[in-house]
Amino acid sequence: MLNFAVGPVQMAPEILQVGAQPVPYFRTGEFSALMKENERLLVEFAGAGEGSRAVCLTGSGTAGMEAMVVNFLDASDKVLVIDGGGFGHRFVELCRIHRIRTEVLQLHYGEILTEKHLEAYEGAGCTAFLVNLHETSTGVLYDARLIHSFCERNGMMLLVDSISSFLADPFSMEELGVDVMMTSSQKTLALPPGLAVLVLSARAVRKAERTDCGCMYLDLKLALKDGERGQTPFTPAVGILLQLHERLKELERKGVEAETAHIRMIAEDFRRRIVKLPFTLASTSMSNAATPVHPLHGSAKRIFEILKDEYEIWVCPNGGDLADEIFRVGHMGNLTIEDNTALLKALADMERRGLL
Ligand SMILES: *Cc1c(COP(=O)(O)O)cnc(C)c1O
Repeated sequence: MLNFAVGPVQMAPEILQVGAQPVPYFRTGEFSALMKENERLLVEFAGAGEGSRAVCLTGSGTAGMEAMVVNFLDASDKVLVIDGGGFGHRFVELCRIHRIRTEVLQLHYGEILTEKHLEAYEGAGCTAFLVNLHETSTGVLYDARLIHSFCERNGMMLLVDSISSFLADPFSMEELGVDVMMTSSQKTLALPPGLAVLVLSARAVRKAERTDCGCMYLDLKLALKDGERGQTPFTPAVGILLQLHERLKELERKGVEAETAHIRMIAEDFRRRIVKLPFTLASTSMSNAATPVHPLHGSAKRIFEILKDEYEIWVCPNGGDLADEIFRVGHMGNLTIEDNTALLKALADMERRGLL
């Protein structure tokens, strides 16, 4: 299968090879050294400042989202949440479950966040900002600089889910004043699902250490403490952490900028060529990570099914009301221009067959 899904994404052969090895016992000096190197590289690649820390939790991205909510927010907070799609809505739900007060900035499907939206919340006593930088469900990338200056003006903590944007778009915690960023293993890191990565600024580390999060498994105090010696409170996803190490070392050799440039090149090539077929782009503010595509004829869902069953290609269907209107094409992972060509050829063939 050729995989253009938005996660899990296509993995590199070297990563698959690490995954084929037996999983070692992990309470060892060797594993601790590897974990410390993972942490160093994650902090570096997130552009985090002096005194920042990184923690890997075992769980999907949502475990990381929930960890953010329980470790950095409490009853004294009022949180501005951007709800522009499925993932923004998940943050709203998490805050509701954990009884965190919220102001919900509701965007309609595909809407871009502007200065005008934020004006209403200026000086409104919000203490934190919670956002999915790239709302992967709609393919809208929010303006991180706009959010940063709003948070700075209003003295708010900035908590960012950059799951599908990290490595795909230029990002620096320090430059954007981000207190906590979170990503997960199955998006641009191009590993199996199972790890949620949080990178904490020095200020966020201090906050986590003071917080009683009311939860054992997601308690970052424990993870930070054990992490000092390269260990974890509970059995981690050892195999994926070994794959993460392989991936981070590769990124260190190649450079994060080169990885981002590659993903952008794949995305731009695809966008240039897809509009020559009967499709339009369904977002005007896109991440390099994915392109939401609207077919001019035929059902998007049906196109996804045919590509899967007859051409051995995965794209990503949309859920909800727009299932027939939009599918998404991911550009993360081990993809090349030739892979784009294969997908576009399949779509051109479907057009010839009268399916589009
Ligand atoms: C993929 C993704 C998640 C994580 O979802 P899980 O299924 O729990 O891994 C969260 N937020 C965004 C923006 C994502 O793209």
